[in-house]
Amino acid sequence: MGEHASAIRVAEVMDRFGELSLRVRNRLWEHRLRATPSRIAVMAALARAPGLDRRDTETTAPGTDTPSIPGHLTVPGLQRAIETLDIPLDGVTVYRAVTTLTDVDLIHPVTIRDRASRYGLNHPRHHHAVCDTCGTLRSLPADDVTDLLTSAADLARFSLPDCGALTLHGRCTPCQSNHG
Ligand SMILES: [Zn+2]
Ligand SMILES: [Zn+2]
Repeated sequence: MGEHASAIRVAEVMDRFGELSLRVRNRLWEHRLRATPSRIAVMAALARAPGLDRRDTETTAPGTDTPSIPGHLTVPGLQRAIETLDIPLDGVTVYRAVTTLTDVDLIHPVTIRDRASRYGLNHPRHHHAVCDTCGTLRSLPADDVTDLLTSAADLARFSLPDCGALTLHGRCTPCQSNHG
């Protein structure tokens, strides 16, 4: 106890996220991290962040059951998502959890010039598409491009991070229509 985070217990946080919290707790343990309220809350909130729902994409063949890829949140965005569930965690506690989870490669930052870093889960593996006009960030399924990237990286004698390394820059659909 003795820290702000102890205002809420692990069991209470897990209760808010239901079955998802068991998977999150196991992933923390796999990475030899203690399952604290803030780490569970950050991981679970990111798993629920709106991202790419593969059922919405034309490229998904019928009958394939590829999981959706969650979205990315800034630290203040994470804090809001956690507050919505009535979990009291201050910004410093959330920030510390984000730093720890980044250090062990459970989550990754996406940094776009002039904007606050956004964080996402490393799994499922994905790449990123960024709109240079409005800053919209979309997750891209990694399957299609990973082999290509790996051979390109081999040629350049680079090794790629596990979470997916590619960030495409372009314009999202609304920005395309705004600018002709
Ligand atoms: Zn990501
Ligand atoms: Zn845009």
